[in-house]
Amino acid sequence: MITRENLLANISRVRQRLSEAAKKSGRSEQDIKLVAVTKTVPIELIEAAWRAGLTVFGENRVQEALPKIDALPEVCWHFIGRLQTNKAREVVGRFDLVQSLDRWKLAEVLQKRAEKINVLQEVLVQVNLAGEEQKGGISPLELEDFLEAVRELPNLRVKGLMTVPPYSANPEEVRPYFRRLAALFKSVAIPGVEMKYLSMGMSGDFEVAVEEGANMVRIGSAIFGERLE
Ligand SMILES: *Cc1c(COP(=O)(O)O)cnc(C)c1O
Repeated sequence: MITRENLLANISRVRQRLSEAAKKSGRSEQDIKLVAVTKTVPIELIEAAWRAGLTVFGENRVQEALPKIDALPEVCWHFIGRLQTNKAREVVGRFDLVQSLDRWKLAEVLQKRAEKINVLQEVLVQVNLAGEEQKGGISPLELEDFLEAVRELPNLRVKGLMTVPPYSANPEEVRPYFRRLAALFKSVAIPGVEMKYLSMGMSGDFEVAVEEGANMVRIGSAIFGERLE
């Protein structure tokens, strides 16, 4: 596990890189929301990151996340992973944003739970740009219909789009996917559907994502060190 000193150094390096990438696209660091991805990271280290000024944290497993949310309820939590339908009710009202709404059935389950406990659940729609079967996500061709359908669910609020592009060690190979999602993001014009957040970019490629227009990045290992999974 990394030391506190390394954590602080990593955070300032990530911030520096974010700020340079933001400048390249005519923006500033403040225009980009940094979501620190804390899967497998122990609560002490998350707390240290919070004290160092990070305010938004992302988790991809419900069972791992809930005790962390209980321990640190004052920060902002995002759910970023594949969500099984039978776990979906546990995230509603616990996470400020569910970034991975990737199918209609999940939207229905989230709506039902949100209505029951009387909350408004904010979500991003996950887009599957490369048609990867092992990944969730709405295909670009179906996106508009999907957004229109979700708009009719009174307890869900779409706030934008998210994607996890095919993995490549070379971020330049991922750039076309980021460019495509940014174009989709700009093209959505559905009354009542707000396109506020464009969530794309991880440790290996966030600068390219920001250059292409991301205003939310999800960064784990560049902050907390490599995961031992
Ligand atoms: C793990 C994860 C990240 C962060 O990955 P790093 O490469 O560690 O930055 C971002 N998004 C999702 C959906 C993840 O599961």
